[in-house]
Amino acid sequence: MSNKLVDLTGQRFGRLVVLKREKNHVYPGGQQHVMWLVRCDCGVEFIVRGVSLKNGFTKSCGCLREEVARRKAKAGIRGGKANAES
Ligand SMILES: [Zn+2]
Repeated sequence: MSNKLVDLTGQRFGRLVVLKREKNHVYPGGQQHVMWLVRCDCGVEFIVRGVSLKNGFTKSCGCLREEVARRKAKAGIRGGKANAES
C-alpha cells in the first residue's frame, strides 16, 4: 500500500490550474484513480483524473478544442465538408 502521490496543487497543465485534491475515484474492481479539482482559464472548474493531466490528455475544460476547431474552420480546413454543393 505505498501509493506515491505527486502533489499537483498549483501546477498548470495547458489551460488548467490544479486547485486541490479530490477524493479518489474507486472503480467497482477496486482500482483507484487520484482525482483533482482544476480550473480552466475560462473559469470553468471540474474534476479530472491525475493521469489525464500528467499524460497531457486533458488540457482544458473543452474550450480549447472548440477554439482550435473554430480556428481551423476559419483557415478553411474543414473535414469532410468539401464541395458541398446543393
Ligand atoms: Zn475552458
